[in-house]
Amino acid sequence: MGSLERAMLCGFICRLCSEMHRVVLHIYGDEGIRLCVSEKISRYLSINVSQSDPLPKTICSNCLERLENQHKLMVVMERASNLLKSRQGGQGCGH
Ligand SMILES: [Zn+2]
Repeated sequence: MGSLERAMLCGFICRLCSEMHRVVLHIYGDEGIRLCVSEKISRYLSINVSQSDPLPKTICSNCLERLENQHKLMVVMERASNLLKSRQGGQGCGH
């Protein structure tokens, strides 16, 4: 019923920008798992990716780069926030 053809076509659609790409990363492939792609997507993009949902499980290199940049930004901000909190705690905050 042409289901294989559809599945293959879906494999090249990026989950995040919904555009067709020749080269994509499989979210649940070896590389996708190593990079924690599904975790990063749900954490930073408020999109729920599940292995059982019917949507594409692939993302393009552009979106992967954006996701990685977002992750780096969050790591830097979290570190800064913790640093500021620990400094503020040390000063006693005037109480
Ligand atoms: Zn994309």
